[in-house]
Amino acid sequence: MKKFFYFIFTLLSVTNLFAADCSIIVISIDALHPDAINIVKPENIGKVMSAGVYNLNGKSVNPPKTLISHTAMVTGKTPEESGYISNSWEKGKPTVFGETIFHDAKRAGLKTYFIYSKNKLGFLENSAIDKTIYGKDDSILIAEKIVKEETEPYFIFLHISGLDEVGPKYGWLSKEYLEEFQLIDSDLQNILEHFIAMKSSTIIITSDHAGHDKEHGTNHPDDYKLPLIIFSKDIKFDDISSSSYYSFQLRSLINRALKCRQN
Ligand SMILES: [Zn+2]
Repeated sequence: MKKFFYFIFTLLSVTNLFAADCSIIVISIDALHPDAINIVKPENIGKVMSAGVYNLNGKSVNPPKTLISHTAMVTGKTPEESGYISNSWEKGKPTVFGETIFHDAKRAGLKTYFIYSKNKLGFLENSAIDKTIYGKDDSILIAEKIVKEETEPYFIFLHISGLDEVGPKYGWLSKEYLEEFQLIDSDLQNILEHFIAMKSSTIIITSDHAGHDKEHGTNHPDDYKLPLIIFSKDIKFDDISSSSYYSFQLRSLINRALKCRQN
């Protein structure tokens, strides 16, 4: 009997590898310094890098702060263009106005998910998102469940917290910071393997900003640094490794990945 259920489970997993064509996952690892990738050599993110393309010289917007950078990622506008220059937000306050990556994905026929792990990112909630889920410490597990069960094409924006707490406490690129990054990489294993095995999919791994010593959000060059890693079975992204990249350009990359839906 046990074997039978295992068979059914495997069959379902394999079925959904083929059902959710052109699905996209954006993984924003809060406060990830690109040098941590070179030092840790993360096994799972490393697989995405070998199979895809990357640029470890990406830059945040000005000032390089969590909500300001994520708002730029989601709206495709610099803080100057959007006027969104606040790094704080509380429940009940107005949320983001206008078009976002979720509107783009929704128009392309994808089911949209927003999973975040820092309260202020609730600012980015909007009507183009089918499901918003807040998970302080379990945002990766929440996303993994969706990835395993969803059978329609989908778009997930997954925000992962952790480094943004360890950085200010122990220092960016400290032993504790690198250990935390290693843990995040292990936790991402199932999601990344699933996406790589899908018939047609795009993975984008990036961050909102980095930091130096125990500080971030200043005009220190390290505070602006961020990585950009893309794996896509459908669309070529080779140019990203040699061109400059700013976090507000994420939306245009997602629109490129969405062209998969027109093929
Ligand atoms: Zn941040």
